[in-house]
Amino acid sequence: MSFWKRHLHTLIVVFILAGIVLGSVLQSFGAPGPGKPVEQVAPGFASMLGFYFFHAIDLLGRLFLAALKMIIVPVVVVSIGYGLGGMSRGANVGRIALRTVLYYLLTTGLAVCTGLILVTLFQPGSGEEIRQTVEGMLSQEVSGTSSSGSLQAKIDRAQAQIEAEGLKGLEGAPLMVLKLKNLALSLMPTNVFQAMAAGKFLPIIVFSILLGTTLLLVRDQTPSLLVLFEELQTLLFTLLGAIMLTAPIGFFCIVAKLCWTVGLEGVGSVWVYGVTVLIGLAFHGLVILPTICWVFGRRNPIEFAGKIRNALVMAFSTASSSATLPVTLKNVEGSAGIKKDYASFVLPLGATVNMDGTAIYESIALVTLATSYAAASGIPLGWEMADMIVIFLSVTLAAVGAAGVPGAGIFMLILLLSTIRIGDTVGVPASLIGLIIVLDRPLDMIRTCINVWGDSVGCVVVSNLEERAQARERAEGKF
Ligand code: ASP
Repeated sequence: MSFWKRHLHTLIVVFILAGIVLGSVLQSFGAPGPGKPVEQVAPGFASMLGFYFFHAIDLLGRLFLAALKMIIVPVVVVSIGYGLGGMSRGANVGRIALRTVLYYLLTTGLAVCTGLILVTLFQPGSGEEIRQTVEGMLSQEVSGTSSSGSLQAKIDRAQAQIEAEGLKGLEGAPLMVLKLKNLALSLMPTNVFQAMAAGKFLPIIVFSILLGTTLLLVRDQTPSLLVLFEELQTLLFTLLGAIMLTAPIGFFCIVAKLCWTVGLEGVGSVWVYGVTVLIGLAFHGLVILPTICWVFGRRNPIEFAGKIRNALVMAFSTASSSATLPVTLKNVEGSAGIKKDYASFVLPLGATVNMDGTAIYESIALVTLATSYAAASGIPLGWEMADMIVIFLSVTLAAVGAAGVPGAGIFMLILLLSTIRIGDTVGVPASLIGLIIVLDRPLDMIRTCINVWGDSVGCVVVSNLEERAQARERAEGKF
């Protein structure tokens, strides 16, 4: 087991490659699809093995996704709740907190904008190849045992919702204003358990932020509650870690099924998506954050990156900002000389809520999958300004809600997919993430690096602004 744990990254890559090879070999016997169930693909072969094998990999792939979905809501609530409730409280905490939160929100917002601009420029979801691939995957969904329901049922549900929300017959500015009003209303859960049961992640995140902030305020009266949150976090992260131990097999099954049904070209059709994410991460990590470090942190970003290189390498190799946190704290306080007061506040919070790399990845992945799904199912996307604002807010909150553990981005993406509007329908089947899973591990390692880099630059900025404010106060004789 310890071999499996130690080499999890390598195993994931090896199993994904194995899935590609096996799926492609099986495809040479023929691909299952609409009107062509797997047992008819190649009678001799299928009667013997194909049927059982197809359903075995389908089952394991779906179980893996279901296990991830199962744990999303508790992980989000507990990690945000403890991240906020457990923040250290030193002198000037109010001002430091305000600056930190502003920095995190602004940089996450910038990251989402970068992602949305790039995905609009490169349009990785609109090529003919990716459309065909998604069409192939969807036909499998329909002929399989999809739980997402038929397209017509979805359209009917969405129409009923449009009527219920009073949007029918509206256009232009009034439509946009009402949509934004509905978005604002949907942020506040009327029944948090109902929101959790329905996987409505926006109200869940808002609830978790309120819960965490209140815990911070009352924790002196309720110390055991804080301990409970801490212990729940340990419990859930351990469970998540255990689920992720099965990732090589889960990814193998998803990828093998994908290649079997849509072929190798299908997998290759997402290369534009991968390059777009890489460009976004590089731009944010090499241009935006260094500029912020220079301008607002008054520090040479290259020199600073050198001081925290161990944390960056650790983030890359573990794909987990939480696991990297001790090294980040050590590097930022020790080598880079930032005061403990700032580092011990800004970094733990950042490891929980500040995920610039994840935000870039999620905005690009979400739009790519949504556009390719729309093209493949022949539904016009019909996105307007209000939808883009909804997407912006949803991705920003999803990045806040993502825990600092490997693969967290992918399971927040599953939630995002279930809530996105496509024409007159809502939701994209979660199984489409099979398309981008092939690239997920390397992208996770790089985006985690950007997440940690973003937290560390935040520390520099907050410490510089705070020290200057204190110097000003001293000069004015306030001390
Ligand atoms: N692995 C990332 C992190 O720990 C989160 C993600 O999956 O994007 O920061």
